Amino acid sequence: MDLPVDEWKSYILQKWSLLPKSIQVTISTAKTLNDLFLHSSLLLQPEDEMFLKRLSGGYLVGKDPDASLFYREKGNKKFQEKDYMGATVLYSKGVSHSGPNSTDISLCYANRSAALFHLGQYETCLKDIVRAQTHGYPERLQPKLLLRKAECLVTLGRPQEASQTISDLESNFAAKPTVSASQFQILQRTLCRVKVKVQEKKNLPEIFPEALTKTFEGVDLREENEQIPCASSSVSLHIDPLKGRYLVATKDILPGELLVKEDAFVSVLNPGEMPPRPHGLENKWDIQVTSGDLHCHRCLRRTLAPVPCDGCSYAKYCSQECMQQAWDRYHSVECSLGALLLTLGVFCHVALRSALLARFEDVDEVIEKLCGEMSKQGICLPESEDPAQILKYDLRGEGEKKDEAVVTPIPGCDINGKYERNYNAVFHLLPHTENHSPEHKFLCALSVSALCRQLEAAGLQAFTTDLKPTKLKAAETPVLCAELNVWGVAMLRHMLQLQCNAQAITTIQHTGSKENLITDTQQVRLATAVFPVLSLLNHSCSPNISVSFIGTIATIRALQLIRRGQEIFHCYVLAKRGLSAGPHESRMGVAERRQKLRSQYFFDCNCPPCERERQRPSAGPGREAFRCHCCRALLQGDDVLSCGGPACMESVSRDLLVSRLQDLQRQVGAAQKRLRNGRLELATQLLLECQSDAKSFLSADHSVVGEIEDTLAQAYAALGDWEKSATHLQESLRVVEVHHGPSSVEMGHELFKLAQVFFNGCAIPEALTTIQKAEKVLLVHYGPWNDEIRELQKMKSCLLDLLPIPGGPKE
Ligand SMILES: [Zn+2]
Ligand SMILES: [Zn+2]
Ligand SMILES: [Zn+2]
Ligand SMILES: [Zn+2]
Repeated sequence: MDLPVDEWKSYILQKWSLLPKSIQVTISTAKTLNDLFLHSSLLLQPEDEMFLKRLSGGYLVGKDPDASLFYREKGNKKFQEKDYMGATVLYSKGVSHSGPNSTDISLCYANRSAALFHLGQYETCLKDIVRAQTHGYPERLQPKLLLRKAECLVTLGRPQEASQTISDLESNFAAKPTVSASQFQILQRTLCRVKVKVQEKKNLPEIFPEALTKTFEGVDLREENEQIPCASSSVSLHIDPLKGRYLVATKDILPGELLVKEDAFVSVLNPGEMPPRPHGLENKWDIQVTSGDLHCHRCLRRTLAPVPCDGCSYAKYCSQECMQQAWDRYHSVECSLGALLLTLGVFCHVALRSALLARFEDVDEVIEKLCGEMSKQGICLPESEDPAQILKYDLRGEGEKKDEAVVTPIPGCDINGKYERNYNAVFHLLPHTENHSPEHKFLCALSVSALCRQLEAAGLQAFTTDLKPTKLKAAETPVLCAELNVWGVAMLRHMLQLQCNAQAITTIQHTGSKENLITDTQQVRLATAVFPVLSLLNHSCSPNISVSFIGTIATIRALQLIRRGQEIFHCYVLAKRGLSAGPHESRMGVAERRQKLRSQYFFDCNCPPCERERQRPSAGPGREAFRCHCCRALLQGDDVLSCGGPACMESVSRDLLVSRLQDLQRQVGAAQKRLRNGRLELATQLLLECQSDAKSFLSADHSVVGEIEDTLAQAYAALGDWEKSATHLQESLRVVEVHHGPSSVEMGHELFKLAQVFFNGCAIPEALTTIQKAEKVLLVHYGPWNDEIRELQKMKSCLLDLLPIPGGPKE
């Protein structure tokens, strides 16, 4: 997903392997990215472009009336089954595939408005009704739409507008009796009903939709940093030959304190798993729902009723405003390149968008900078990791300040030492050019070259049609080409930077079916972004901050007490790649973690947990251990494990245990599937078997043991046995604590579930204590403006109402 699709990757690697040795050497030893780009792009042949074109042909990114009809019919089917959510999403897909001002699009909007009406989304329903009308909704169908509009207005407490709609409707009837007799009767009856409601509402004081009064306490920075925008004054920026740039606490910081609140410089929504479809297959159109269907492609906010770009079927937005902004800033160039960008991967897309966004800053200065840095000095000088070079750079100082002891112009900062959150800052992120393999650099360079050729071929004056009148505007084609090369080098640089500097924007997805009364949450990657301030943080496998996202805004909170002078640490892969694959201390062994950091981020981690674990490499079997079937003691060893029990001689091969574990995991998976399908007794039975099997060969702290307990808790909750559910959840909680620590976000989500179970089971004192614990943990990670925290607060006030004596529980 980050990198180009496999077919293009292997095609380019093949091409590389067939290159004459001398050319390979030239490219491998290119001193600057400029040389690398120029040498590589000369090798891009028309047949390579043809191949790439064929690959992108598999993505359906254009408008297609047949697709529109297909999705609308699928949506109607869901609608009949009363699955209004499912119907809404399918109608949205229909909307995306229809051209503007067509009957198709108006029908999709109208049908979506009906589904939204059933979902109680009246405001959104009204918007869709207007959209259906502006795109030419057929006259003969108007009455139904107007009735729905009137009903929405009544429900929203706007009787005047509802009356107006009704009189429009009545004159419509009178003027054009286009509806059939039976339809007319139905409409008449509904109309009467609505009229009665309007009357009732008129007699009541006007009800306004509950005003959203957000309390921004703890959501904004207490005091903004003068040197680093978007950061709090509790941190300061430093540079060190070995560590590079990093942030340090300027005072003692308490857990939960907001340290950074930063909007992404650039972000690209992850397309989700969208395999290119071979042509001619029956099931050409995908009814799978990805995050691209449910989130705005610009602001990333969740939206049930997106509006599509007029030119393509893949870009969708929460509102007309977001669509316009995206169009003005980047989508006018990207629109026709959708399939190519899906083929070349997210990193290439982020690289292009970064370059497009750079146009909105002083273009002359940017170009000058690009040309200057690339040709004169060689591109990686100022931020090279070579300590000697950084020192030289540091000591050079600035003319008039020579008398002061040390002047450090930190890369990415302006002459006043202020770190600017702009293209300059993004440009200065490390590309680690010398660490990437020659093949990888060749792949990136050719992908960017192919993109540049497409930009050129499409006649897109992408980088010259600037907003401000500059001398570039008058530039003729040859200049465009030369300039496109400059931007090509910049995009190549971004592509290489992203491996270490891309930040995944994640979101919490609530899983579990409607029957499951307790929610399960899962962290998923929503978008890939660049945050100049967030990028200043160094890595530790045991970070002291937590990152969360609202739309494209990242917030960083202290996870623990950070003493004045201590460095602020972020766990890179944990947040950058999604939770499950992170090298966080609690999720991966030290060797695996260090390997991951070395291969992706090019450094050897020396953080305290890594040091600790390195000093006692054979610290026993660990948490994910197997146990002896005879005496229950933990087994130790590598390929053959032997029992650590005092008088036991058992030994067993690791392969055997691993395959037994895999069997167990399959069983657990099967039980979870049954649970999802509502076969609760069967699922519980199977889970209890899994539980006893797990006990016989896994340590009590094994993550699979925790998973079984958690699933059992869900099953009992679905059966309404809250007491049993709570018992199992507490077991799961114990395992989560061992793995992730008492103040981890995982612990917070698990405590939230337990609070729900106690709440539903009316165990008031237990519920109140658990709510308090959950709130404390989640507050540190997310701050007060978080759905789960607000849910907890609602539960709490509800429970306090139930308590007999004011003043709370007494002992
Ligand atoms: Zn939006
Ligand atoms: Zn478009
Ligand atoms: Zn480490
Ligand atoms: Zn034993």
